[in-house]
Amino acid sequence: MSSRVLPADTTVDALVGRYDCFLLDAYGVLVTTRGAIEGAAAFLDRLTREGRPWLIISNDASRSLDTTAARYQGFGLPITADRVVTSGALLAGYFEREGLRGSRCLVLGTDESREYVEQAGGRLVGFDADAIDVCVISAVYDDPAAPFLETVNRTVSIVLRQLGRGIPIRFLLPNPDIVYPSDHDAFSFTAGALAALFEAVIRLRDPEGHIRIAPLGKPHRPMFDEGLARLGHPDPRRVVMIGDQLVTDVLGAATAGIDSVLIETGVATRADLDAAPARPTWLLRNFLT
Ligand SMILES: [Mg+2]
Repeated sequence: MSSRVLPADTTVDALVGRYDCFLLDAYGVLVTTRGAIEGAAAFLDRLTREGRPWLIISNDASRSLDTTAARYQGFGLPITADRVVTSGALLAGYFEREGLRGSRCLVLGTDESREYVEQAGGRLVGFDADAIDVCVISAVYDDPAAPFLETVNRTVSIVLRQLGRGIPIRFLLPNPDIVYPSDHDAFSFTAGALAALFEAVIRLRDPEGHIRIAPLGKPHRPMFDEGLARLGHPDPRRVVMIGDQLVTDVLGAATAGIDSVLIETGVATRADLDAAPARPTWLLRNFLT
């Protein structure tokens, strides 16, 4: 039993009536790895029909915007690439703001992770590089051209050698998720877990913690700032975030100063609220409610 009063239950009708703009998580809200979640397509169609701007904000940094949209479309959802903000796509703004265009970048991730870095203006280097400016920890990957263990060990070597010479490296983490639900009751680790490993490696050379890994995706501000900018900077009181995770979607919305809905079709349910770092404004069982 919860020791505190639960947030109020809401419905699709009430949300569409109350809010002008919608930010939506994808996995656990609109899709699973197997297909669309019931009611998701009708909900998106209704938002469009009733003139409510909406965007998907996803922590994925391993697939391009086109690939991401095509995947959702394959599940029957009316989602085009211009409706999607991935954490990989945040790199462009970050490189611009931080003056990183032209910097030598080592990317842990997929081919499409590297495309995001190239599009941001980064100069890609290989795992045999002598020196790097930026290490982008984009995604967990494993393919014949980039075997996971070998490339991680090569990166650890580059980092330890370079920091040992006193030459700093910038570390970026587009997707700070630690794990994702890969199947029923099964999890796979993702880039946030890989970053925790690198954090420990960095501390061997930088025990005082001057070098930090910069996270971009939910629950951090760059993702919400980008989402709100893409919606045209609406009154934050008229925007709501719908997500299935308390530590990313709900916490991020609270930090960004917007309302949130925990939809119980994914990772978290109302039973998890007591241990959560932030509480949603509303609870929604599903899009059929
Ligand atoms: Mg999710």
